[in-house]
Order: sequence, then structure tokens, then C-alpha cells
Amino acid sequence: MPAKSSAAEGLKELFIDELKDIMYAERALVKALPKIANNAFDAKLKSAIEEHVAVTERQVERLTQVFEILGESNRGKKCDAMEGLIKEGESILEDTEPGPVRDAGIISASQKIEHYEIASYGTLIAFAKILGEEEIAALLLETLEEEKDADNILTDAAYNSINLEAAEEDQA
Ligand code: FE
Ligand code: ZN
Ligand code: FE
Ligand code: FE
Repeated sequence: MPAKSSAAEGLKELFIDELKDIMYAERALVKALPKIANNAFDAKLKSAIEEHVAVTERQVERLTQVFEILGESNRGKKCDAMEGLIKEGESILEDTEPGPVRDAGIISASQKIEHYEIASYGTLIAFAKILGEEEIAALLLETLEEEKDADNILTDAAYNSINLEAAEEDQA
């Protein structure tokens, strides 16, 4: 396939492109997560998502630092994947009533989001290391750990309470 003029040339450009993608994704999450949190029925789930909004704001700041180190604009580039994942989350809110089943759906949508971020930051760290950008790799690793923590909290909430409550509701 002939390369388009807009295609990334070289690993460094691909790296910067993917950084712009995740910057867009994180900013989209800062806007979208509060609505998801407001619709969570379980108080612990609600506060876990609210906490992740604050964490996500710091992740945007961290990415801003990364762009400063690279001397690049911090403008994001539309992330179609995150737009889609957020839309899926919103459609779960439309299709469910407040309660444990909706919460199970919120966890499902949120974990898909966290897994996309985990995959993205894993790749970005590998690119940063191979490009000799150790300071950037260290910053991105902090974010990766936060995304993994968020994912683990969601897994615990699902296994320890919300899925059980949702299944009980089915039997009622
Ligand atoms: Fe994030
Ligand atoms: Zn993306
Ligand atoms: Fe993507
Ligand atoms: Fe996240």
C-alpha cells in the first residue's frame, strides 16, 4: 500500500501520533466520566469513578509534560476507539434503570476503557524506551500503574458485590 502523505514517518512520528491519540482520549474521559459516576447506584463504585476523574486530570497534566519534553504541541488527535467506548458506556445508561444491573454494565464499559488505556500506555512506554526517552517512559509508567489500579478496583467491585447483586435482582 503506498504511504499517504499524512501517514506517520518513522517510529518517532508514530510515537508522537499515538501520544496525541491518548491525549485526546484522556481529555474525552475527563468530560465523560462524571456523567458515568453520577449514574452509578453503588456509593463505592460512584466514588471510585469520581476518584478516577481526578486521576485522569493529572494524567492529562503528565501528558502535557511529555509534549513539553518533546517540544511538540499538546493538541490531541481524535481517538475513534475512545469515542466508541464512551458511546457504548452511554448506551448502557440509556438501556438500564438505576441499580445493580446498570452498575454491572458501568463496570463492563469502564474496564473496556481501562484496558484500552493499559494497551496504549504499554505500547507508548516500549516506544519511549527504544527511542531513548527514559524520562518520558518513567512518566508514562506512572500513568500505566494508575490505569491498572483502576482496573483492579473495578474487578474487585464486580466480583465482591455488584455482579452478585445484579444476579439476585434477576431472580427477584
Ligand atoms: Fe487515563
Ligand atoms: Zn485511540
Ligand atoms: Fe486508537
Ligand atoms: Fe483510566
